[in-house]
Parts: sequence; structure tokens; C-alpha cells
Amino acid sequence: MSGYYGDKMVALIEELSRLPGIGTKSAQRLAFHIISLPKEKVKKLADTLVDAKENISYCERCCTITDDKLCPICKDEKRANHQLMVVEDSRDMAAYEKTKEYKGLYHILHGAISPMMGVGPSDIKIKELLERLQKEEVDEVIIATNPNIEGEATAMYISKLLKPLGITTTRIAHGVPVGGDLEYVDEVTLSRALQGRREM
Ligand SMILES: [Zn+2]
Repeated sequence: MSGYYGDKMVALIEELSRLPGIGTKSAQRLAFHIISLPKEKVKKLADTLVDAKENISYCERCCTITDDKLCPICKDEKRANHQLMVVEDSRDMAAYEKTKEYKGLYHILHGAISPMMGVGPSDIKIKELLERLQKEEVDEVIIATNPNIEGEATAMYISKLLKPLGITTTRIAHGVPVGGDLEYVDEVTLSRALQGRREM
């Protein structure tokens, strides 16, 4: 390919094709679009990427992505702080927020345990969850990890850790399609899954 486009263009296509969901064809289309833009627009895009990376961090309490010490949900004193919903990523939290049904707090794991992918308990925010539970007065932890092998394994792992702490651990119901990704599930299904949760 470098024979046609030159090394710089090939490098750009390669970088873009590393992004999730972007195949070689899409990467080529994006690369051609980017080089056709005025220089200022490309610079703005590049600056926005770097600025986001440098200034977005994790909420000190729930580990969601935010650009402040605490995220808006953790700062909100009206939230029920005795309930904690554990989700795999910030997009799952956003999905539950859209249902407007859940009024408690969240904890974002940033992944799920997956021996196949080499992801162990220490690679996700489980330690942070345990530290939080020692400081905060939580009486129910709702585990809302995805209903697939990794999500179930993570739910089991966490529930075993929480048993000795005397905190009620519940798991959302399987209104969510098995193998599904919470992020794509509609709000009604998510609300039902929450209402139908069971103690683990
Ligand atoms: Zn937070």
C-alpha cells in the first residue's frame, strides 16, 4: 500500500485502524477525509484528543470517567447512598441513568474478569470497591455486570468477597438478553432487570 500512498499516509491509516470497530476500509476513508480538511481543523481534532486524554480522569469515589475530583452523581446529595450498583463501564451507568429508575450510587469496574483475555481481579476496580465499602454505609450492592461469561464470573467473584462483610448482594434479573451488552439494551428492559434483581 505504501507504494501508492507513501509512508505518512500508511502510518495514519494504520493508527486509525487500531481503533475499535474501524477496519482497514473505514480507516482509509477517515484518513483521506482528515488530509482533505484545512490544517486548523486537523489541529483542533488532534488537540481535542490530547486534551481529553490529559484532563479526563476517574472519579475518586465511583471510578467513572469525569474531569473533576468527583463526578456529578457522587456529588449529588439527593442520591440514595446506601445502594451501590456495580457496572462494567461508564456507558452502562449512563444506560441506567436513562431509565430514571435507579436513585443510588454506582461503582465502575472498567472491565470484567476474563482469564481468556488475561484480565484478573486486580486489573479492574475491585480493590477500590472494597475500600469504598469500608468507608461508606452501604447496605445493598447491586451487581449489574453484563450477562455473559465474564460478567457472571465477575458477579460471582464480587459476591463471594462481600459475603463476610454482611452486605446484601443482589444480581440484576435476566430480562437482559444472555450474552448481551448492557449498553445496547433498551430502558424498559433495564428497568425490569433492576426490579427483578435477586439476592446472590
Ligand atoms: Zn463518582
